[in-house]
Amino acid sequence: AEPPVVWIPRPVHDDALVLLREHADVRLGYGDEAVDFDAVAPEVAAILLRTARVDGDMMRRATALRIVARHGVGLDTVDLDTARERGIAVTTTPTANTQSVAEHTIALLLAVRRGLGIAARDGGEDGAATRAAIRGRELSGSTLGLIGFGRIASRVAHIATHGFGMRVLAHDPLLSGAEITERGAEAAPLDRLLASSDAVSLHVPLVPQTRDLLGLAELLSMPEGGVVLNTARGGTLDEDALLTALRRGHLAGAGLDVTVVEPLPADHPLRNEPSVLITPHIGAQTAEAMRRMATDAATSILEHLR
Ligand code: NAD
Repeated sequence: AEPPVVWIPRPVHDDALVLLREHADVRLGYGDEAVDFDAVAPEVAAILLRTARVDGDMMRRATALRIVARHGVGLDTVDLDTARERGIAVTTTPTANTQSVAEHTIALLLAVRRGLGIAARDGGEDGAATRAAIRGRELSGSTLGLIGFGRIASRVAHIATHGFGMRVLAHDPLLSGAEITERGAEAAPLDRLLASSDAVSLHVPLVPQTRDLLGLAELLSMPEGGVVLNTARGGTLDEDALLTALRRGHLAGAGLDVTVVEPLPADHPLRNEPSVLITPHIGAQTAEAMRRMATDAATSILEHLR
C-alpha cells in the first residue's frame, strides 16, 4: 500500500520529519518543495500542526484525514466540533514541556529569593551599594507551597525537595491526599499552605474556579517576606492585590512568566516594582521542549495511522 500522506504546514524540529519519513509520505508547507493545502487535501491522512489553523472547511475537503496532531497544548486553532463529527482524532503534547516549565519555575524562585533582578540591573551603577542592600535567602530549609499539583508542579516538588532540601506543601482539590503524598509533597488545605509557605507557586489551569485564586486576603495570609511565583496562567493571581501586598512590604517579591496581558506593557506598574521579575512566557522555550513537542506529535500520528 502507498504510505500515508502527512502534511506539515510550518517548520518543526527535523527529528519529527525523520521519524515520520520511516512510515509516511511527508509533504511540507514550507521550504524548497513547499506544497499548500489545496495540493494535498484529497490524499492527506494526517496534519502536524504548530501555529497554523485547521478549520471545518479544510476538514471537509480532506476526506482521508484521520488525525490532526497539535505541537503544544492549545486547541484554539482547530475546529473541534467538525473534527468530532468526522471522526478525526485531535491530539496535543501535554508532557513535552513539563521539565522546561518546572526548571523555569525554579529559576524564578532562586532569582527572586536572591535579588538577581535588582543585582543584574543596578549592580553596574553602584555595585557596592547594591551589594550592601541585597540580603538573599537560601532555599534550603524553607517551605514551598504549590497550588495545583499536576505534571509541572510534581517536577518542581522533586527538584525543590531533592535539589534544595525544601519542605513542599501542595493543594489540589482534584487529587486525594494519598495521591499528593505519592507524587512527593505534603497535602495541605489552601489556608494552611498559604500560612506556612515562604514561597507560593501557581500551577493550575485558568478556569472559573482559579480566576484570582490568589487575591489580597490570600497574599496577606502568607508569612511576611514571602514570595509568589506564577508560571501557569495570568489571571490566577490578582495583579492589583500583588502590587498592594508588595507596596505594604508584606511580600518580598514575585516571579511572573505569565500575566493577565501578554506581553506586559512597558508602563505597567508591576514593571516598576524592583522586586518583581517578569519573563515573557518563556517557560517552554527550550531546545528540548521544542524537539519533544515535534517528536511527540509525530509519534501520535504514527500510532494513530498504524
Ligand atoms: P496539569 O493539568 O498536569 O496540572 C494542573 C493541576 O491543577 C491538576 O492537577 C488539577 O487537578 C489542578 N487544579 C485544577 N483546578 C484547581 C484548583 N481550583 N485548585 C488547585 N488545583 C487545581 O497541568 P500542567 O502541565 O502541570 O500545567 C500547569 C499550568 O502551567 C497550566 O496552567 C498550563 O497552562 C501552564 N503552562 C505554562 C507554560 C509556560 O510557558 N509558562 C507552559 C506549559 C504549561
